[in-house]
Amino acid sequence: MSVAELREKSHTDQDPAELPRGVKILHDPVRNKGTAFTEDEREALGLRGLLPARVHSMAEQELRVLANIREKETDLEKYLYLIALQDRNENLYYRVIMNNIEEMMPLIYTPTVGKACQEFQHIFRKPRGMYVSLHDKGRIKELLQNWPHKEARIIVVTDGERILGLGDLGAGGMGIPIGKLSLYTACAGIPPTQCLPIMFDVGTNNEQLLNDPVYNGIERRRARGEEYDALFDEFINAAKEVFPGILIQIEDFGNTNAFRLLNRYRDNTCLFDDDIQGTGGVAVAGLIASLRITGGRLADQKVLFLGAGEAGIGIADVFVAALREEGVPEGEARRHCWFVDSRGLVCAGRDNLAEHKLPYAHEHDYIDNLADAVRTLQPTALLGLSGQPQTFTKEIVEAMAEFNERPIIFALSNPTSKAECTAEQAYTWTEGRAIFASGSPFDPVKLGGQTLVPGQGNNAYIFPAVGLGVIASRSRVVTDEMFLAAAHSLANQVSEVDLQLGRVYPKLSRIRQVSAKIAADVATMAYDKGYTDKPRPDDIFADIHAHMYHPVYPHYV
Ligand code: NAD
Repeated sequence: MSVAELREKSHTDQDPAELPRGVKILHDPVRNKGTAFTEDEREALGLRGLLPARVHSMAEQELRVLANIREKETDLEKYLYLIALQDRNENLYYRVIMNNIEEMMPLIYTPTVGKACQEFQHIFRKPRGMYVSLHDKGRIKELLQNWPHKEARIIVVTDGERILGLGDLGAGGMGIPIGKLSLYTACAGIPPTQCLPIMFDVGTNNEQLLNDPVYNGIERRRARGEEYDALFDEFINAAKEVFPGILIQIEDFGNTNAFRLLNRYRDNTCLFDDDIQGTGGVAVAGLIASLRITGGRLADQKVLFLGAGEAGIGIADVFVAALREEGVPEGEARRHCWFVDSRGLVCAGRDNLAEHKLPYAHEHDYIDNLADAVRTLQPTALLGLSGQPQTFTKEIVEAMAEFNERPIIFALSNPTSKAECTAEQAYTWTEGRAIFASGSPFDPVKLGGQTLVPGQGNNAYIFPAVGLGVIASRSRVVTDEMFLAAAHSLANQVSEVDLQLGRVYPKLSRIRQVSAKIAADVATMAYDKGYTDKPRPDDIFADIHAHMYHPVYPHYV
């Protein structure tokens, strides 16, 4: 969009007489411009004397913010500074994030957000989003009506049971919906007022939190069974009623609830689970892009997963969908995916296997450890989604390099401290032959005169774009095939330069363009499959662009 078009778009139709005035507009994060209020606006909005004399441009304000952030000593302090900025001036916050996405994403999302969730009750300053708890039973609809932005289009909700790889953080998990929704706006241009983070508080089993006097969730152990389900059902129905057409992303639920809730609501509600489906999309995109380096075919791959939870099974399901698209029958496609969990190889005949693992429990002798499973199965790709750090040992990575010219090794557990191995280890132990990606970012590695750049298999490449495609097309559902379409779209947008550096994802600085293309591909699917009543626009890509928010100040007068 040109500067002139942006300026045009930023003109507000609102009558200045109806705008909040004086300190009220300064305290309204959606409308506040701080020192960038112009002379005319200061006059019209009763701001004379409430601001220092000099009028700054947004670019000058950005410089001040960046300087402030960069002088903070810890990432958590930087996170707090950014949240405070979001609370007082949203447009400036998003400008800073979008213009400096590589520097900012690790602060507003993994790994820093993990630390923020662990400390949530201690760093709590100001509420953001909504809190729905067991105490609200019977009145969730009434409560949701308190949300000031009736135009909400996307909810991200967590119950805090499995935050990143950090376990049960109860109400502290709220940092995740807040962070993910910032990414919806920063990466795919969903307007901030259309984003609603929600904490679904059903208690916590984290004793440390329950014993902490400043913990801000409900003081009880987690509800399960009927009590949990009834509250969640009430929440979903209330959300659909208060915000018609709302897209709901379920996030960081414990894995039994996550699979159950996804299966219960996916066909009748516009709902998806990013940990399962979004992770599936991003990891499969990484595998497809890896094959652009190795020249192999998807159907020739054997993938071994460490960790058979939401993320691992989610990836396998999208991988199987990709193989089916290539004509491989489903049963055979599943045999391309193997799992080792905390008890060893997932195989037929093992006792008490969770339901979501059964489709991948193949006939095979039981193996009790990963190293032996790698040697026996000889996979082409090894994917870590176990939340267990340093489990891809030197022996295991070296074995991968013995029977693969270019072993694919993705250490996807978050945050960084949980990664199955580091980028440096993967490259060093394979003499630079590994195609490596991780969940949290790793710095480039210099090895034998070569610089290798690890890709970050960040779900932010997928979920904001899928969300944009779904809300722009007004699709009634979010389907697995949309995540596969998103995976293909993402893999196709990895440039030759990226691949030469070993990076199987596009540079993060291109994420807005990449997201717009993915969103257009997802929307196209919604129109093609009849998931929407919206008439198909002549130019879907232009329609997607028209939905995208740009962080520019409105001109009030
Ligand atoms: P989950 O709790 O659903 O599953 C974890 C799985 O790991 C379970 O199957 C468990 O049995 C297994 N496990 C635990 N200890 C193990 C051990 N010692 N050896 C082998 N397996 C073990 O969690 P999840 O949602 O699947 O997430 C797992 C990890 O993946 C987390 O660290 C999460 O941050 C990460 N993740 C990364 C991305 C990404 O990079 N894009 C996306 C989603 C999740």
